Amino acid sequence: MKYIIVTGGVMSGLGKGITTASIGRNLKNRGYKVTAIKIDPYINIDAGTMSPFQHGEVFVLKDGGEVDLDLGNYERFLDTELTREHNLTTGKVYQAVISKERRGEYLGKTVQIIPHITNEIKDRIRKVAAKSGADVCLVEVGGTVGDIESMPFLEAVRQMHREEPKGDLAFVHVTLVPLDPQGDQKTKPTQHSVKELRELGLTPNVIVTRCKEPLLDSTISKIALFCDVPEEAVISAHDAKDIYEVPLMMEKEGLTDYLMKFMNLQSDIQDSSWV
Ligand code: ADP
Repeated sequence: MKYIIVTGGVMSGLGKGITTASIGRNLKNRGYKVTAIKIDPYINIDAGTMSPFQHGEVFVLKDGGEVDLDLGNYERFLDTELTREHNLTTGKVYQAVISKERRGEYLGKTVQIIPHITNEIKDRIRKVAAKSGADVCLVEVGGTVGDIESMPFLEAVRQMHREEPKGDLAFVHVTLVPLDPQGDQKTKPTQHSVKELRELGLTPNVIVTRCKEPLLDSTISKIALFCDVPEEAVISAHDAKDIYEVPLMMEKEGLTDYLMKFMNLQSDIQDSSWV
């Protein structure tokens, strides 16, 4: 199983969901079976009790699961049907661990975030991925790197990176490249959010940047240098007229080819001329 973990920095609402769905769509076009999991670090069990004014519309899955709208994007982009297990929340993880503790399943051990919560998170990700029969499982970690709520999830994916065979897990970090008052593209927020990620033991393999206009070559070089990724792994996710242009944009920029090379995926369908 190959895993692509999508994290986000600087601020929320940057487009992690669209990035995840777009990467999945492009891999599907190359002939891979793809599935996706959304992690929402809030304590709610699911989005069903959350005000749409706060959280946006709730998306209802075929099995009745009430989840984040991102799962709607995954279903549309990947042309697949997901279940409530594809949405992992802090509430679901803690509820499961506390129930196990009450049943005595931890055999008298002190139940802790590491390893019990992180093991529960890893088990759930791996079980959902295996059950789906996919070649590639995308995991979007909701929220922003540095949020207290995200910590156990980021720690769990860090451990997965150690445990999975080399090259089977890639980290994609989505950040913002704002413009200064003179209209110049600024890389400092990206540098800081990558630094924050590194402090947690995670090293991004690909950096996707949301920006108004396509990234300039000089901006790409600067991000590559400061964030220690190859220039071809710096992807410009500039403002699109509609979100269905985003997978085409990413394909043109070579993101699928880069990820396939990185993860040693050899598709018979190498042709990207459909873009
Ligand atoms: P996140 O998962 O990081 O919260 P979303 O993927 O839900 O972010 O995207 C937030 C909003 O930005 C959505 O309304 C989405 O349609 C829009 N969006 C994302 N990427 C782009 C893009 N490249 N161009 C224009 N709009 C985008």
